Amino acid sequence: MKIEFNVLDRQFRQFQDEYEAAALRALRSGWYILGKELEAFEQEYAAFNESKYCVGVGSGLDALVLAFRALGVGPGDEVLVPANTFIASVMGVTLNGATPVFVEPDEFYLLDAARLEAAITPRTRAILPVHLYGQICDMDPILEVARRHNLFVVEDCAQAHTARYKGKMAGTFGDIGCFSFFPTKNVGAFGDAGCIVTDNPDLADKVRTLRNYGSKVKYHNEMENGVNSRLDELQAALLRAKLPHVAELIAQRESVARRYLAGIRNEKLILPAIRPGCGHVWHLFVVRTADRAGLMAHLEQAGIHAQIHYPIPPHLAPCYAKLGGCPGDYPIAEAYADQVVSLPLYNGMTDEEVQYVVDAVNSWQ
Ligand SMILES: *Cc1c(COP(=O)(O)O)cnc(C)c1O
Repeated sequence: MKIEFNVLDRQFRQFQDEYEAAALRALRSGWYILGKELEAFEQEYAAFNESKYCVGVGSGLDALVLAFRALGVGPGDEVLVPANTFIASVMGVTLNGATPVFVEPDEFYLLDAARLEAAITPRTRAILPVHLYGQICDMDPILEVARRHNLFVVEDCAQAHTARYKGKMAGTFGDIGCFSFFPTKNVGAFGDAGCIVTDNPDLADKVRTLRNYGSKVKYHNEMENGVNSRLDELQAALLRAKLPHVAELIAQRESVARRYLAGIRNEKLILPAIRPGCGHVWHLFVVRTADRAGLMAHLEQAGIHAQIHYPIPPHLAPCYAKLGGCPGDYPIAEAYADQVVSLPLYNGMTDEEVQYVVDAVNSWQ
């Protein structure tokens, strides 16, 4: 059997008629940027995410960039970010000229609240919890540190749509929540798209202005650091068609994860753990092993494509060499980067395929 890491057309086919109808509606409308579909989507997503405001933008990275820009975080400011995240989280900070300060993750691969305080300096302005792999961070102690030091909180929810913490939705804890609708994400569009959510009308207004050349009214440009980053009508229409099915799509992911958790028995592996009270929506199913090359080769031999999220921690990425990061600076994040493996998990994966992966992992010696 051959098992791809992701097969996107399976999720498309599940609700194909609805996507096609939505796409045709947008195409035939004759209006493609900043129109009725986006307006409706923003209202629907705000309600869906239990937030007051939603502003659609071009990507998850743009959501992060414009979130920090709207908060006025820039040159000379420091932002606490997890040392084991996807590079885009960090770029949201550095594209504003601010400086990322890395913080080691806990055993759930998430920002470790107990290590935040030691990383705070007089320049610290914000904390960026990333709900990595789909599990929401332990928000209470993070918010407590933020309150004590008067810091902004921006949540990177790109992998964690609808994950809850003590009943409350990801993206609703901090000043701004940032989402990506990249096609492989748990709520995926059919192209690039993203959004921010917030309960603060001024911040929503700022991002709305920044995404459109810094103008609210056509040709009246108020902000020189504006960009062109709009969630287009076609993607908005497609996302509107997907929203009613998100709960079902995430339940499918949970069912694969449950089968993996119940079926995988191999002493050479560490399975993902869930912190009590923290929701996990299983964007990725990440295992860890000291012999990653061995596991990857064994899976490859069985026709299974696993992936690594992520092989190089941001402080060792060539683009951030100027920050002076060295091997050994963040040993936990570096060990994770050397040991993690993501098993295939996607909407439309069959029970037979899941069992095939379980058997292959269990037969690895
Ligand atoms: C995907 C992702 C992003 C960026 O989203 P794009 O829409 O691809 O720009 C940011 N942060 C995390 C954690 C992500 O997984």
